[in-house]
Amino acid sequence: MYLYFRLYLWAFTQMFPTGSYVRRHEQDGFKPVLSDRYQMMYRFMDWYSQKHDIKIEHRMNSGKEKRDAKFLADGWAKPTEFLVPGAISGTGSKDVLPKGSPKGLIVQYDGCYIHGHTCYLTDNVEDKQQLKVKAEKTEKRNKYYLDQGYDLLVERECDFFRKIKKDPDAQRLVQEGRPEFYQKHKGTVKTQDLLQAVKDDKVFGAYQVDISIPETWFDEFKHRKLEPKEFFGEMAPLFLTTEVQFEDIGEHMQQHIIDHGLSQKPRKLLVGGLRAEKMLIATPLLRYYLQLGMQVTRIHQVVEYGRTKCFQKFVDFVTKRRRAAQGDKSKEILGDIAKLIG
Ligand SMILES: [Zn+2]
Repeated sequence: MYLYFRLYLWAFTQMFPTGSYVRRHEQDGFKPVLSDRYQMMYRFMDWYSQKHDIKIEHRMNSGKEKRDAKFLADGWAKPTEFLVPGAISGTGSKDVLPKGSPKGLIVQYDGCYIHGHTCYLTDNVEDKQQLKVKAEKTEKRNKYYLDQGYDLLVERECDFFRKIKKDPDAQRLVQEGRPEFYQKHKGTVKTQDLLQAVKDDKVFGAYQVDISIPETWFDEFKHRKLEPKEFFGEMAPLFLTTEVQFEDIGEHMQQHIIDHGLSQKPRKLLVGGLRAEKMLIATPLLRYYLQLGMQVTRIHQVVEYGRTKCFQKFVDFVTKRRRAAQGDKSKEILGDIAKLIG
């Protein structure tokens, strides 16, 4: 049991898919479809932080959002000496250079649809009344923050899109936030390129593939003494669910079923297999399969993500607590709690 605990914890120190993603389908020649609109708020806050030399904290760099009594803010910053450009003063000061509010700065990145902004992004929304209701709700939120004495910086989606076009730093930040293979391949790609990227560890995410063991070894595996069927036969590499007929199972188990009067109907089982169709495989595992000498005969689709060790802090926390508890009775309870959560 102890070993399993350690294995789980180790697994959490690995790379995980994070951030914006790109999908590619075989029928479109693996043309990328990028989805990073929901990530733009973080790009905006990082860009603004750099440009005006303040630190805006948000969910991606601090792990949480700021909650005031009523609302959850996208970002916040400690009190600034002077009001940052574009912000509204929470102290109501009309000075040319008003001081920052002692309560600090609230940052909101407002998606134009969600917040009912009338602009080119919401042109095709038919229910204008609904937009109005959303806009009023947003107004109320803004008023709430200012009444509480916060400085408030609101950036609209359409405004940031315009800034990106003009500002090379913003462009760079947006570009860097996109998955790595996509950054270098913005158009269609071939199956071969996608497989090579897996082998070279230049892509991270999951591939939906037809995969099997080869009839004969590819050149690079020709030195192996066993044929592919024998090599993989000992321990079938693919884990999949499939319908298993009574006739498919071995003589001994057939007899066991007959002797004990068990059901002879086909059943769905998790088995070890030598080939699979349309199987979704994470790229690190797919790379391992390719290194073993397996063949991918077809890629159906690809989902590419950014990668980070996003649970590393959690693992460090658990490890530290558990280590400290060893040989120190007073810290035993902290160690036990850490053991409970990870
Ligand atoms: Zn807008």
